[in-house]
Amino acid sequence: MKNTYLCPHCATVLNPSVKILLVARHHDRRGMILLSPQPGNFKYVCDRSLEEGLSHGDMVAFSCPVCTIDLTSVADHRFAELVLRSPGHDDRKVEFSRAYGTHATYLIEGQTAQVFGEDADGTDATNFFGA
Ligand SMILES: [Zn+2]
Repeated sequence: MKNTYLCPHCATVLNPSVKILLVARHHDRRGMILLSPQPGNFKYVCDRSLEEGLSHGDMVAFSCPVCTIDLTSVADHRFAELVLRSPGHDDRKVEFSRAYGTHATYLIEGQTAQVFGEDADGTDATNFFGA
């Protein structure tokens, strides 16, 4: 079962191989970041020059490497949003925390949310419905 992640703006496939490739920015620092395609797996690979300047809780801006549009969720600015396309499902929204060092991901399908990560508790997932 292959999970395909799409940019919500230009529909480019962001994981042509396995990992999801995004551009991450914090103030004037930019770098490429690779994310796991498995929701709940928070391992990532990031340009060290970007990561060195980050502290816990810093808000990182993620953008699409193709159309360059910021992926910050309109429903909740603390999150970034991707589209997840998988066999047997309608397209789902994936919302993941932009705060460096925090683990929170919501997988939104219709009016239900699957929650991943120990930092997700304090967030009301209903923000993401119908947005
Ligand atoms: Zn795009």
